[in-house]
Amino acid sequence: MRKPKIIVSKCLNFEKCRYDGQGYNNKVIESLQKYVDIKAVCPEVEIGLSIPRDPIRIETNKEKEEYRLIQHKSNYDYTEQMNKFTKNFISNIEDVDGFILKSKSPSCGIKDVKVYHQGNKCSVHSNANGFFSKEVLEKYNYLPVENEGRLKNYSIRDNFFTKVFTINRMKECNNIVNFHNENLYLLKSYDKEKTKELNEIILSKNINEENNKKYKDIIYNIIRGNRNKRGKLEIIENIFEKYRNRLNYEEIKMFNSLIESYEQKKIPFSALAIAIRIYALRFSDKEVINQTFFNPYPEELINITDSGQGRDL
Ligand code: SF4
Repeated sequence: MRKPKIIVSKCLNFEKCRYDGQGYNNKVIESLQKYVDIKAVCPEVEIGLSIPRDPIRIETNKEKEEYRLIQHKSNYDYTEQMNKFTKNFISNIEDVDGFILKSKSPSCGIKDVKVYHQGNKCSVHSNANGFFSKEVLEKYNYLPVENEGRLKNYSIRDNFFTKVFTINRMKECNNIVNFHNENLYLLKSYDKEKTKELNEIILSKNINEENNKKYKDIIYNIIRGNRNKRGKLEIIENIFEKYRNRLNYEEIKMFNSLIESYEQKKIPFSALAIAIRIYALRFSDKEVINQTFFNPYPEELINITDSGQGRDL
């Protein structure tokens, strides 16, 4: 059985390779280890920097407005070495489904790296990509790429896991019709219109190489977006409509109040999903029971702890 393949910054759980000889213990990566294949990399060590080392940083030159990777203390410029390593590393990746990179690092950070004026002490701004992550984001713009800090947020983590495990299912499955049937509700919850395009391919019953590729390209396109509350709720409401005539007044009232509580952020989405699954089981609705919409990644990875920022369970 194929496992998702994730590339991770090595200082996150794998080696104390930070400039000061320290590393991090990240609970998300710890919980993932059993379910994914991880390849860890430290770009700074790969270009020959020692552990510990004097820190490097991104500097900008007023005239040229280009970013350089500089060791402030020695004023040594590591830009070429890092670019060479990164290009070589990325072009040798055989298969990957996602990345978890260390925030704020001049090598691995994503959109949160400080940039300094050449030789100055104060940073100019702090929203650049690291040298390694910039290349990753360019080459793998269709894959989930996150930093460990953002994964503390439940919704971001849920989206990341969902994408990584959906890509894994797609790569593992040698029959896109089966994949489509099992993931249909999940895909609809991302993007109804693009899912219609997928339906057309499946309904054409012409699954040749060209259509296979077209189908997979649309999947990558769909999961570049994020599932939102409305999209997920619409799926639940549509399923409920299938059962409405078979339910009594009290059951309908109860379900409507669950939806209201979810909309008011009083209960998590999982409470609604459990309720609808109970009805699916009661009515032996196999089409619904087998949908990955309810469990897009291993249940053991569900942990509703949250950083408290943008909480949307
Ligand atoms: S952030 Fe990246 S370059 Fe820095 S220590 Fe961690 S893995 Fe190495």
